[in-house]
Amino acid sequence: MSTLLPTSTAGSLPKPAWLAEPEKLWSPWKLEGDELVEGKQDALRVAVQEQHRRGIDIVSDGEQTRQHFVTTFIEHLGGVDFEDRETVRIRDRYDASVPTIVGAVSREKPVFVDDAKFLRSQTDRPIKWALPGPMTMIDTLYDRYYGSREKLAWEFARILNEEAKELEAAGVDIIQFDEPAFNVFHDDVQDWGVATLERAAEGLSAETAVHICYGYGIKANTDWKATLGPEWRQYEKSFPLLQQSTIDIVSLECQHSHVPMDLIELIRGKKVMLGAIDVASETIESPEEVADTLRKALQFVDADKLIPSTNCGMAPLPRKVALGKLSALAEGTALLRAELPA
Ligand SMILES: [Zn+2]
Repeated sequence: MSTLLPTSTAGSLPKPAWLAEPEKLWSPWKLEGDELVEGKQDALRVAVQEQHRRGIDIVSDGEQTRQHFVTTFIEHLGGVDFEDRETVRIRDRYDASVPTIVGAVSREKPVFVDDAKFLRSQTDRPIKWALPGPMTMIDTLYDRYYGSREKLAWEFARILNEEAKELEAAGVDIIQFDEPAFNVFHDDVQDWGVATLERAAEGLSAETAVHICYGYGIKANTDWKATLGPEWRQYEKSFPLLQQSTIDIVSLECQHSHVPMDLIELIRGKKVMLGAIDVASETIESPEEVADTLRKALQFVDADKLIPSTNCGMAPLPRKVALGKLSALAEGTALLRAELPA
């Protein structure tokens, strides 16, 4: 990539109100059948156009074709009953109605490959595609079959790897695995979390990323964050493991979070996709504020390895706010680029 400090996003963007109810997770679709297919593609086109217009260098689909970043993937697999829903506690924080594993899991057909091809046809810029990571998938379902989180994680890793290889063949430049669960289940991260993540990314020539965050700006997450104390040191557990891993890029949150910036030192050598946009606040950052966060991060990451980004997905935000935040990210990055030696 030739651009210094290429901007990107963690993943999701708000959907248009004609496609799904805004400012809501698991929002039901407003269209059906062929109209839904076309509607999702139109929304994706708009998401790409806004990213282009506002200066985002590594483009994503804004997750316009999925209802949720984890359950939509799970619902496409064999061995899953998505009508048999159970309520589980997600990330130890909030209850949600999720699909049930009722048999051996399998990937009977590609899940996002057509969507990725469509994204590829809409932009000449590098594209990034997000998949859920194995541990986060397990944390977002009810298992009636395996009875072992680890065993199921290895099965998902194999399936994710199949999907990732086809995404790569469709022209995806960066494949990202979302693992917010890495900030919660520290023993599992050590025991099998990073190993299953590496399995999911095995044999890819596309760049690979892992996104670890403190979640969307929903109340359950905000309440949880309030219990974490003045310094959030969760990354301290996973970063040394990731520094030693095969994953190329680590996506983390920094803007307005209580993550001590020096923890980034623990992944020295990796590319850092740095969250410089707060997704839990509707206040749009000023470009100076964004530049300030990025400038501080440069103490711990080399400029050629820094990818300015958002803390997390922006799906639940009002659309105008999310788009304003994209502009702020690009403008703040431009301020910093101007300070760096050419
Ligand atoms: Zn996130």
